[in-house]
Amino acid sequence: MTTTSVVDRFSDLALLPAVLTSLEKLGYETPSPIQAQTIPSLLEGRDMIGQAQTGTGKTAAFALPLLTRLDLDRREPQVLVLAPTRELAQQVAVNFTRYGQFMRGLEVATLCGGQDYREQMRSLKSGAQIVVGTPGRVIDHLDRKSLNLNGLKALVLDEADEMLRMGFIDDVDWILGHAPKERQVALFSATMPKQIKHIASTHLNNPIEIKIESKTAT
Ligand code: AMP
Repeated sequence: MTTTSVVDRFSDLALLPAVLTSLEKLGYETPSPIQAQTIPSLLEGRDMIGQAQTGTGKTAAFALPLLTRLDLDRREPQVLVLAPTRELAQQVAVNFTRYGQFMRGLEVATLCGGQDYREQMRSLKSGAQIVVGTPGRVIDHLDRKSLNLNGLKALVLDEADEMLRMGFIDDVDWILGHAPKERQVALFSATMPKQIKHIASTHLNNPIEIKIESKTAT
């Protein structure tokens, strides 16, 4: 992996020891450029716009700091990730579970369309702190009151331009509008069409902007 970052080791970042243990086990040695640039700001609670594609390590870039900021004793959604497809949502959920495998009491709920509500309700009821889903199904759960965002600390929009392309951008806008005002937002998108810029200017507060051109070779 080529990296131009100044952070050579994950242990130089103020991540939770349990998270560092999982990275060691997974064999991650060096933060990728997007991770080195993103993790410190997300740990501080700042809003962020990340222009990066899949394959750059962007999932860990938001998952590691957001896991670090969780309060595991509070058994309610604290992080909500919106993704364009079921496949991506499931992949993100698996990664949160992997990076948080040594965090006792961590629960991750996946809320995707075309899948059984019962399992989704069960994981929400049992106190999932991380919720990953597609916008339509997330709105369904908000309507049914099975999902409550009052305790939300952070919201991630993953592949925002894909959510726009698939016609979900009004849903994304609605969800952002129904989240607590004092929350952190991280927006990731490979491209920045004007509708995405509009979402950013409406819902993000003084975001830092990070642009990663190349993919990491993993
Ligand atoms: P992503 O862009 O988040 O989909 O990540 C792409 C792939 O790179 C995934 O398979 C990750 O498990 C892997 N990966 C992410 N960050 C690192 C890292 N710092 N070191 C090694 N592998 C990584």
